[in-house]
Amino acid sequence: LFLLLQSPFRVFSSASPKWPKRRGTVQIPYIISYKYDKPSVKIIKEAFADFARFTCIKFVPYSYQRDFISIMPMSGCFSSVGRTGGMQVVSLAPACLRRGKGVTLHELMHVLGFWHEHSRADRDKYIRISWNEILTGFEINFMKSWNSNMLVDYDYSSVMHYGRYAFSMTGLPTIIPLSNPFVALGQRRNLSSSDIARVNKLYKCSPTLTESGREELGLEPCPTEGEIKVSTPSPTAGASSPGTKPPETVQSARRPSRQMTSAPTAWTEEITGRTAMDGEGLNVP
Ligand SMILES: [Zn+2]
Repeated sequence: LFLLLQSPFRVFSSASPKWPKRRGTVQIPYIISYKYDKPSVKIIKEAFADFARFTCIKFVPYSYQRDFISIMPMSGCFSSVGRTGGMQVVSLAPACLRRGKGVTLHELMHVLGFWHEHSRADRDKYIRISWNEILTGFEINFMKSWNSNMLVDYDYSSVMHYGRYAFSMTGLPTIIPLSNPFVALGQRRNLSSSDIARVNKLYKCSPTLTESGREELGLEPCPTEGEIKVSTPSPTAGASSPGTKPPETVQSARRPSRQMTSAPTAWTEEITGRTAMDGEGLNVP
């Protein structure tokens, strides 16, 4: 399921939660648990390969670096958000790998510093949360986060978006898209083109490094600074669920009273070391 925990490693780290870039490449050292069988390791490596192909993020085998991820099959699928410092666990239980690389991509996006798409501070323009349908005690999964990265337009097809029935009590939708009621939510197959764009933007990847990979998929060239257009239809602004007035915001400990008044790019660096525990791949209806 899904919980928010302060990372125990955070205490010992005053470093930036972004991973460092050297000579144009961001290397993230990894250890993969010996408990995985070959097909599972293959799936995890497929996810690594996607980041290498489309971004400047390269997952490299651990060789005594200070900060690294340790991928292991604990219970559930979860990861810290951003670099915590030292070893950080990415849990991928067998169920998280059963349907291919999608859940791994999702957890690795957390590792890079991305929060859930439906938690973005601007999400009310794109989705409505049906608070009354959410399983009691799981409302926190639907609160807005000031830490969410808003480098690109809201993307229903992001690998970081939950499905419309996430944590539903009765089987009715908990997330209702506002622009098109039939739009697909919660895909766990590939990084969407905006997922790729946001990684390249957060880490300022050089387009030349990632261009060949993009051509393979027939994607458009990476948007550069200033080229990101705000072109999303703006459906019923201000539409929110009537009646209940749940707490709307998970505020970061570092910026307790931030209001949403500045440009989206202001959130770029605001990643905190929380641990995201997902029900990914386990409770998909
Ligand atoms: Zn997640």
